[in-house]
Amino acid sequence: MTTAPQAEAIIDTIHRLRQQIPPAVTLIAVTKLLPVEVIRIAYDAGIRHIGESRVQEAIAKQAQLTDLPDITWHLIGHLQSNKVRKAVEHFQWIHSVDSLKLARKLDQAAAEQQKQPQCCLQVKMVPDPPKYGFDASDLPALLPELNQLTHLQFRGIMAIPPQAADADTITQVFVSARVLAETINQGGWSHLTLDQLSLGMSGDYQQAIAAGSTMVRLGTVLFGPRPQ
Ligand SMILES: *Cc1c(COP(=O)(O)O)cnc(C)c1O
Repeated sequence: MTTAPQAEAIIDTIHRLRQQIPPAVTLIAVTKLLPVEVIRIAYDAGIRHIGESRVQEAIAKQAQLTDLPDITWHLIGHLQSNKVRKAVEHFQWIHSVDSLKLARKLDQAAAEQQKQPQCCLQVKMVPDPPKYGFDASDLPALLPELNQLTHLQFRGIMAIPPQAADADTITQVFVSARVLAETINQGGWSHLTLDQLSLGMSGDYQQAIAAGSTMVRLGTVLFGPRPQ
């Protein structure tokens, strides 16, 4: 249960953060592992972008929020092949397009459903073996094929610094993600126009915004620590 004082505190925090963050930056409230009532509280505070990591969890929450049709749902966690169809059905944005194979499957599902989900390429800007994502150095060779996946709207890059990265590495990740997007945009691709940068979580969103992020994905700083 969320008590009334807790709800007030969340609303105050969201209002305060919204003031700190430039208006052009989309604030995505990350509600993974949190109850659906937290989404309602965030909504009351003006949030319209919700980030979830798992398809099934999001679908269950959406079923309880049919009275809030103007929420934009963002998938930010790794997507398994067997959930691709449901992801396309239930999310307007997929930030975690992390392999060519997944991109092809998403494109096919989007074609079948006559949808055009907005997508970010998840890219590892520095080596980070445990993480999902394209290696930045592999991406240029994959652009011709990505450009042909015309049912997907490639809008940006999502990059996450390695665990325990120092401040310099964090800045390097964010700035190099911006430069990569700019480089891709200059490539003359008919179907790749990356106008968004999905950079920044609770611990590093200020650096991300300074580096040019247009979408920050915030959980802990809005709602406190998540239940395990
Ligand atoms: C959980 C998660 C977030 C939010 O993390 P916080 O540190 O709680 O803000 C952002 N992005 C991704 C990809 C996540 O998995």
